[in-house]
Amino acid sequence: MEFRAGEFVAIDRRGRQLAWHVPASALYGLDPLSLRLLQRVQEQGTVPAERLSTEIASETGATGEAVRAAAMDLLALGLLLTSGGAGSGGHRLVDLAPRRKGISALVVHVAHTCNLACHYCYADEGRYGGRDSLMTEETARRYVDFLFDSDPEAPRLRLTFFGGEPLLNFKVVRLAADLARERAAREGRKVLFAMTTNGTLVTDEVADYLAEIDCAVTVSIDGSRETNDALRPFHGGQGSYDRVVARIGPLLERCRTVARVTLTRRDLDAVSIVEHLLGVGFREVGITPVDAGDPRFDLSPRDYDTLLEGLAVLSDRYRDHALEGRRYGFANVETLLKAFHQGHNKDYACGAAVAMVAGSPDGKLSLCHRFVGKPEFQVGTLSGGLERREELLDRVHLANRTDCGSCWARYVCSGGCHYANHLHGGDVRQTHVAHCDYLRAWYRKGLEVYADIALDNPAFIARFIDPDYLCAVQ
Ligand code: SF4
Ligand code: SF4
Repeated sequence: MEFRAGEFVAIDRRGRQLAWHVPASALYGLDPLSLRLLQRVQEQGTVPAERLSTEIASETGATGEAVRAAAMDLLALGLLLTSGGAGSGGHRLVDLAPRRKGISALVVHVAHTCNLACHYCYADEGRYGGRDSLMTEETARRYVDFLFDSDPEAPRLRLTFFGGEPLLNFKVVRLAADLARERAAREGRKVLFAMTTNGTLVTDEVADYLAEIDCAVTVSIDGSRETNDALRPFHGGQGSYDRVVARIGPLLERCRTVARVTLTRRDLDAVSIVEHLLGVGFREVGITPVDAGDPRFDLSPRDYDTLLEGLAVLSDRYRDHALEGRRYGFANVETLLKAFHQGHNKDYACGAAVAMVAGSPDGKLSLCHRFVGKPEFQVGTLSGGLERREELLDRVHLANRTDCGSCWARYVCSGGCHYANHLHGGDVRQTHVAHCDYLRAWYRKGLEVYADIALDNPAFIARFIDPDYLCAVQ
């Protein structure tokens, strides 16, 4: 029998050795003997089993039996393979492709209009290439029915209110949420509500209602007054920062509210942005680099490096808090920790058309909220159903990505955002190079932080992935 190495990423955390097994999306600690075995096989490509045992035993002083046992353990995990390809972990252990199920998450665009005029807006200031419009009550009813009928087996459904600015059509938000709650109660199911808002139209009444339906609220805000106002003005040109900060108090008090930053080249200082918004009172802040298709805003490769430096500082801060059993409100790293801990192993980069679609006021269903108004990415209609779902899912399947096949992060990242790929490369299957390098480096950093916390305070991980934990702290 001959051994060869399985596909893994070696990680050294201050002398402690770990291996991320790519096909299984699993992190293993390695004892010195196992590490030596793996290194030797990696160096030599293919090694006869007997020779490997003899050499490693004589180098380490371990018995031949101990070396063979360690090799068998590595073989069982898929970190070693036999040259013929055998080895239980050489293949993906999980293959999540729930495409035959219905849709269990719907993003409803209740308002294709907005009171802000953000300069980088991908949605044409909320109009998505059309005219200002609001979703009617009748259309909202049909969307709620669509969601409940699409996957009758799903115990939990997600309904997200989006725009434009959804609070410009709060009446329809209420109606849809009330209908969804009634139907969920009748059918013994649960609906999880979410909303993305610019925060300028929040009132006590709005905050009370969103708290009543336990809505997770994302407020778009880009950092300090200066940065935010340069990017997110009202139509008249005046900045929105003061209005947002004056209005969101009730949300911060009563709802699970996170800040969502669209990061542009105008302000790349992720650390200051996050610290500022935590100081405003958000429990959690997430940062997404902009995809505007406009060099005034989109990040250059050097900008991505600057962003990564900031994200690394924030990630280390998160780790240091976690090692003391505390949670630091930096959402990006938490998302990665969940992915690594749950062993994400996906054929699709995100839930678009797999479990989620976006619905526009005119009844068209799109791959996701960012593709609304683009006929090429229309999955179907309220009246006709999800006619193009299979076709679009085939297009965005990991196997059809042009450049992810040998990437160690492929089963966690699965090819990056389809919209970013489409915008920057003109093809959902082709990852924008600068973005891809950024993604891979970011996944690597997240893996290191995960390893540190898993090694030194595993109780934090166990507590933090417990669904009840989030409720307790937010
Ligand atoms: S990091 Fe890049 S190459 Fe790797 S899976 Fe993501 S998009 Fe593909
Ligand atoms: S395509 Fe991009 S924006 Fe749309 S759901 Fe996927 S990751 Fe999000």
